[in-house]
Amino acid sequence: MNKKTFSDWQDKAAGIEIEGRAFIDGTLRHAHSERTFTCASPIDGRVLTRVADCGEADVDAAVTAARRAFDTQVWAGMNPRDRKAVLLRWAALMREHLDELALLETLDAGKPIGDTTAIDIPAAAHCVEWYAEAIDKMGGEVVPADHHLVGLVTREPVGVVAAVVPWNFPLLMAAWKFAPALATGNSVVLKPSEKSPLTAIRVARLAHEAGLPPGVFNVVPGGAEPGRLLALHHGVDCIAFTGSTRTGRQIMECAAQSNLKRVWLELGGKSANIVLPDYPDLDRAAKAAADAIFFNMGQVCTAGSRLLVHRDIKDAFVAKVAAAARAYEPGHPLDPSVTMGPVVDRIQFERVAAYIDAGRREGRLVTGGARVREETGGFYVEPTVFEVKPDAKIAREEIFGPVLSVIEFDHVDEAVHIANDTEYGLAAAVWSGDLATAHEVARRLRAGTVWINGYNEGADDMNFPFGGYKQSGNGRDKSLHALEKYTELKSTIVRLR
Ligand code: NAD
Repeated sequence: MNKKTFSDWQDKAAGIEIEGRAFIDGTLRHAHSERTFTCASPIDGRVLTRVADCGEADVDAAVTAARRAFDTQVWAGMNPRDRKAVLLRWAALMREHLDELALLETLDAGKPIGDTTAIDIPAAAHCVEWYAEAIDKMGGEVVPADHHLVGLVTREPVGVVAAVVPWNFPLLMAAWKFAPALATGNSVVLKPSEKSPLTAIRVARLAHEAGLPPGVFNVVPGGAEPGRLLALHHGVDCIAFTGSTRTGRQIMECAAQSNLKRVWLELGGKSANIVLPDYPDLDRAAKAAADAIFFNMGQVCTAGSRLLVHRDIKDAFVAKVAAAARAYEPGHPLDPSVTMGPVVDRIQFERVAAYIDAGRREGRLVTGGARVREETGGFYVEPTVFEVKPDAKIAREEIFGPVLSVIEFDHVDEAVHIANDTEYGLAAAVWSGDLATAHEVARRLRAGTVWINGYNEGADDMNFPFGGYKQSGNGRDKSLHALEKYTELKSTIVRLR
């Protein structure tokens, strides 16, 4: 348990040194063009630093360094035991620097310090540990071939992996890509979001300290341009992306236009949380429904943004959810008692505000809806609940903010239909007192993760694969299945005589 107070964190924030340079081939570098972009905090608008705005020369340098590291086998050729030792040292350094990394994440993205210290940074370190621990225990296969043959099936690293990631869990989303990619012997070029580049740069230096050879792990900050250049680059063998469905589509097009690099996408969601009237503990379900949408200011790809409630319990249930929403009073995210900080920046704030306006026109505002703490210069939005029809704009489009759409239904078939009537398929949940009913509904839900009588359980457990059906993406992060994304299968056939 982190015992620091609000004022301890404010003191630390006042003294923190922030690095904004790219990390390429084992060294910190300014962008070749010397261009930078402003990195400001959504807490109060304060400029934190200026960050290298990487362009073509930087992306080329990073990919060239990554390729050289791969071709010389300085990392891929190591005994997996030795790679594991380096990765474990790196994870240990992340844990040693927990306060600093958590503070950077909070200042940069506005996430509550209680979350960054307890979730974001430890989970990223754990992810690195988990893949490090796995990698020296995985062999290949000997296949049942003809008697005069020996047939081997092995996995080999794909080569140079580009990871392009979003800002909602900046280090954790990056770790879900770079940990399995590095564990399997690839070189990585990481492109963090322009809204949250700081922890990526910091952990790159820690990687170097832990003994990752130069070129194996590179960080090229910037906006869409370095992401697009990586997607188009002929020296990149695989691109792993987390972000919006729109950008995912563009990345796939870039891969098609260039070298058909492997493309793995973790995209948006509009997840349905279905409450059936026979669930016995509505207080618990209501609190979970509020947590499902208001955690991390609603900036969660699996956020339970559509709450589907049976007509018989709807009024009582919505009142309970509105009461639970009040626990998410926006406040300064360096105060450890605060559970809701600002949304990530002005652009995101304006996007959320436009959806709230649409909600006012389309439905009934139950609670929230206002901007608060405007005098701080930050972007704070009240937890907001609307009752709407299933075809309302706010019930169909991903908002990525603290806005819940409640939809009423009469029959379980109708609930399943509404839940599946979306282009997305990332997650869903169903609450019922009858486990058979719950299982039947769970089977019918077209989503990569389904919870029964819970929401977000297992999010911190690396054993569960994570990813989407339909336009929520392809492939899976987490679990041993993620290793499939970063490896090629090779058949080696030996003729004995
Ligand atoms: P985004 O698509 O705008 O940006 C994601 C990343 O892609 C950023 O690093 C950005 O700089 C880069 N980028 C932007 N345009 C690009 C282009 N044309 N080519 C290459 N790279 C480009 O998404 P965002 O606003 O950062 O994140 C929010 C989205 O991410 C939401 O839709 C959310 O659901 C999704 N998300 C999904 C998951 C998941 O695992 N499925 C997890 C977190 C967030």
